[in-house]
Amino acid sequence: MPTPVQSWTPSSWREHDARQQPTYENEDELQDVLGHLRTLPPLITSWEVENLKAELARAANGERFVLQGGDCAESFADCTADVITSRLKIMLQTSLILTYGLNKRVVRVGRFAGQYAKPRSSDTETQDGTTLPSYRGDIINDPAFTKEARRPDPQRLKRAYMKSGLTLNLVRSLVEGGFADLRHPEYWDLDFMQHSPLADEYHAIVESIEDTLSFLDVVAGRRADSMDRVTFYTSHEALLLPYEEALTRTVPHNQGAYNLGTHFPWIGKRTNQLDGAHVEYMRGIANPLGLKVGPDMTREKLVSLVRHLDPEKEPGRLTLITRFGADEIGERLPPLLHAVQATGHPVLWICDPMHGNTEKTNGGIKTRRFANILGELEQAFDIHKAEDSMLGGVHFELTGENVTECIGGARGLQEADLERAYKSHVDPRLNYEQTLEMAFSVVRKARN
Ligand code: PEP
Ligand code: MN
Repeated sequence: MPTPVQSWTPSSWREHDARQQPTYENEDELQDVLGHLRTLPPLITSWEVENLKAELARAANGERFVLQGGDCAESFADCTADVITSRLKIMLQTSLILTYGLNKRVVRVGRFAGQYAKPRSSDTETQDGTTLPSYRGDIINDPAFTKEARRPDPQRLKRAYMKSGLTLNLVRSLVEGGFADLRHPEYWDLDFMQHSPLADEYHAIVESIEDTLSFLDVVAGRRADSMDRVTFYTSHEALLLPYEEALTRTVPHNQGAYNLGTHFPWIGKRTNQLDGAHVEYMRGIANPLGLKVGPDMTREKLVSLVRHLDPEKEPGRLTLITRFGADEIGERLPPLLHAVQATGHPVLWICDPMHGNTEKTNGGIKTRRFANILGELEQAFDIHKAEDSMLGGVHFELTGENVTECIGGARGLQEADLERAYKSHVDPRLNYEQTLEMAFSVVRKARN
C-alpha cells in the first residue's frame, strides 16, 4: 500500500526537519518581516512560470537547450547597473553562440534576482582562534568576519526581496529596450581567441553565426532578433524556507500555489532528504522544479524523489541538474539515467559541471579548473547520447566581469593569478572570456 500523501500547505514544511536554516534571535521581528513580505506584490507571474514549464518540456524533447547561469551567491552590493548589465551581456552572448551553434532556441535562466541564500558544509568558521557562525548568503548575514556581521538579521529578507525586484526591473527594461541586439562587434570582446589553440575553429563558428544572422535579416526583411523576443527567467536555490513561503501565492486564473519569488526554484544537494522540509515545500508548488543530483545520490533515492516531486508525470515539471565532477560522472550518471528512464517520468537533464569540480589550492583558495569543467560537460554529452537520452542544458556559475577565480582557459590563468581579481564570497565563477570559450567548446562538441 502506498503511504497516503499528507495534505500540503505553503507552511506544511514546518512539520519536517529543515536543514541549513539560520537561528534568528528575535522571533517577533522575523514574524513582522514575513508578515510584511506577504503583503508585497509578487516578483513574477504564474503565466511566466507556466511558459517556462512549457519551454523546459520542449528542452526535454530536444527542441530547446537551457542555459542556466549566474553567480554562486548574489550580493546586495553587486545590485548595480554595471554588474547586472555585464551579466546579462555574457548570458545573451553565450545563448546566441548556443542558438546558432546547436541550431536550437535557447531558454535563458539566470541564477539571479533572488540567489541570496547559501548552504554551508559547516555551521561555524574559525579564523585565528575565533569561531563565528558561517556566512550563509546576504539574505541571512554578512561575510565580514565579526560577530555583528554574522548575526542572522531578519531585516535582510526585505532587502533581498527589494534587490531581487530592482534586478529584475533592470533586466526586463534592458531586454525590452533592444539591448539584446548584440551583433555590433564592439559589444564582443573576442581577444582571448588569439590565445586559443582552437582559434581557427572558433572564428569559423563566429563567421557561421554572422552568416546565419545576415541570412535571416534578408529572409525576414528585418532584424532577425526581433523574431525571437528575448526572455529571461529567474532561478535560485529555494533554501531559506520562511522567505519562500512568504512569496508563495495562490492566483485566481491558475490552479494551485505558485512561488512567485522566482520562476525556477531548485533543491540543493544538501537539502534533498525525502522526508525533509525542502522536499515537502517544493512538492506542493506548481513551479517547474530543479533537483541537484550529486555523487552521493542512490538510484532508489532518486526514483523516490522523482515520484514524490512529479507524481503526475508532468512535462517540464522536473529538471535533474547533475553535478558529479569530471572524475565521477562516467561511473555515476549511467545507472541513475537508467533508473529514471525506467520510471517513464519525462524529466529534463542538465549538467552543472561546476560543483563537482571545486578544489582548494595549497594556499587555501577555492577554485575550479577550466579543463575539468569542460571535461565533465563533454562526458555528459557523450553519456546521454550513448544511453539514448538527451542533455537538455547547462548550468554555469559565471560572471560578465573580468575576475580570476577559475584556473585555465585560453589565457592560461594560473594559481598565482587567483589573488589578482578574486571577488566571489562563495564559489569560483567562469569570467567573461572563459564563459564565451566554454560556449564555443560546447558547440564544437555538439557538432562533432
Ligand atoms: C550551488 O548551486 O551554488 C550549490 C551550492 O550547489 P549544490 O547544491 O549542487 O552543491
Ligand atoms: Mn555554488
